[in-house]
Amino acid sequence: PGTEIFLPHRRNARGWDLSCADHLEEIEAARHPFRAHRFEAAPLLAGEAQPDAAEERASPSDPSDIVGEVRFASEADVETALTAARPWTASKEERRAVLERVADLYEENFGELFGALAREAGKTLPDAVAELREAVDFLNFYAAEIEKLDSEPLGRFVCISPWNFPLAIFTGQIAAALAAGNAVLAKPAEQAPLVGAIAARLMHEAGVPREVLQFLPGAGDVGARLTGDSRIDGVAFTGSTEVARMIKCAMAENAHPAAPLIAETGGLNAMIVDSTALPEQAVQALMESAFQSAGQRCSACRCVYVQEDIATGFLEMLTGAMEAFRPTEPWMLASDSGPLIDGEAHEEIAGYLEKMRAQDRVIYQSAAPDAGYFLGPALVRVKGIEEIEREVFGPVLHVATFKAKDLDRVIQAINSRAYGLTFGLHTRIDDRVQYVTDRIKAGNLYVNRNQIGAIVGSQPFGGEGLSGTGPKAGGPFYMPRFQKPCAPEPPK
Ligand code: NAP
Repeated sequence: PGTEIFLPHRRNARGWDLSCADHLEEIEAARHPFRAHRFEAAPLLAGEAQPDAAEERASPSDPSDIVGEVRFASEADVETALTAARPWTASKEERRAVLERVADLYEENFGELFGALAREAGKTLPDAVAELREAVDFLNFYAAEIEKLDSEPLGRFVCISPWNFPLAIFTGQIAAALAAGNAVLAKPAEQAPLVGAIAARLMHEAGVPREVLQFLPGAGDVGARLTGDSRIDGVAFTGSTEVARMIKCAMAENAHPAAPLIAETGGLNAMIVDSTALPEQAVQALMESAFQSAGQRCSACRCVYVQEDIATGFLEMLTGAMEAFRPTEPWMLASDSGPLIDGEAHEEIAGYLEKMRAQDRVIYQSAAPDAGYFLGPALVRVKGIEEIEREVFGPVLHVATFKAKDLDRVIQAINSRAYGLTFGLHTRIDDRVQYVTDRIKAGNLYVNRNQIGAIVGSQPFGGEGLSGTGPKAGGPFYMPRFQKPCAPEPPK
């Protein structure tokens, strides 16, 4: 495949400007009917689904909001889906047209999607707009890449997504697997089946056949059942490094031994801010990278190294920005971030902060609403990234300082954690940009900007080491992995 930059031939996600009153009015009018709507999720299978009763569903991030009804897939549903699954035999042109139609249907149904993203996954409006755009980009990008494919689909692909991008990641995995002609068994995260159900419904409406795409909402056992079955031919997984390990073991022991696992996993992402950096720019980049979406992004910055000479003034500016940051009910336009995804996440991260407070390491924590699962952004002092126990998936930024002479040691410490997802650098020394980016092991490197929000087609996203197997999502090497490897050309 070529490495040229992807220029979409199709318009993407309307280019809303959230500072424009007309655009906001249009969005409000479209999402308003979904403020109190009851969404539904149940298995969407080619064969007969087992008619178990659906259960009333409260939002995981706001238990006082009954968002709808969910029926998780049973063991029999998984069996039905595996038996009924058929690869997509439609022509390349037809597959492309259907996926582009899905993109259009997503755009037309933005009100419903924004409503579900806010209420089920705690997404603010800017987060929801960005997520829809990414999902639409994935569809258009993989649709356009179909013409470059020159092999055959692998067969039955299991796509397992996380709750933090229940639309974009869910869609990206499925779109690539479908574009390559596979049958897909799609399992959304336990916390976000309702967004996934809307997406799967729109895919079927656009013309993806039922036996080609089956939707299996469920808890951990559904994913484990699917990934341990010998009839599957590949798994696309995005989630934690621990679960990726479990899937790899299950595939090695039970599933088709040659089936590939494409895994995009966790990170322990760092940023370096040296004394030549523009402080306002670095502070804004950190606010976005560490605290937007309540820090619940795999790309989020977890540890910043600030050069000692500027540390005092820099932290003053950063805490000032944190004081002005407002986590509130995500439906509100003024919300800077929503809550944590659920009570378990809240308990875990609040508990972590308690532990850090007992060790006198919490430098600052800003306010958050006292209700629900909100958590004010926090700064935790560390000597270096090696002191951080694990990926803390919330609005917690660890802060270390360094002396200029210790830059190599900082780089080594960051690499020694063996993750390699994102990395940020703020400096005005050109040689240093080259020096540091040549040495840091990370999939996505960002200089003098935030370190979140990769763009499909022009900034493919994915990590190395413990952060993922590659190839990067939204790039030219991703989709060929969903097909049989081509036989090498015979020597002439
Ligand atoms: P998770 O706990 O690993 O779950 C991810 C998915 O795996 C869910 O659908 C989950 O289903 C399923 N699962 C759990 N146990 C399984 C098993 N034994 N076999 C098969 N599937 C199983 O991750 P998460 O909490 O949803 O998401 C947060 C994590 O994802 C963070 O570590 C974050 O860094 C990472 N992430 C990485 C990227 C990236 O691009 N690198 C992007 C987003 C998120 P249930 O919900 O039903 O248990």
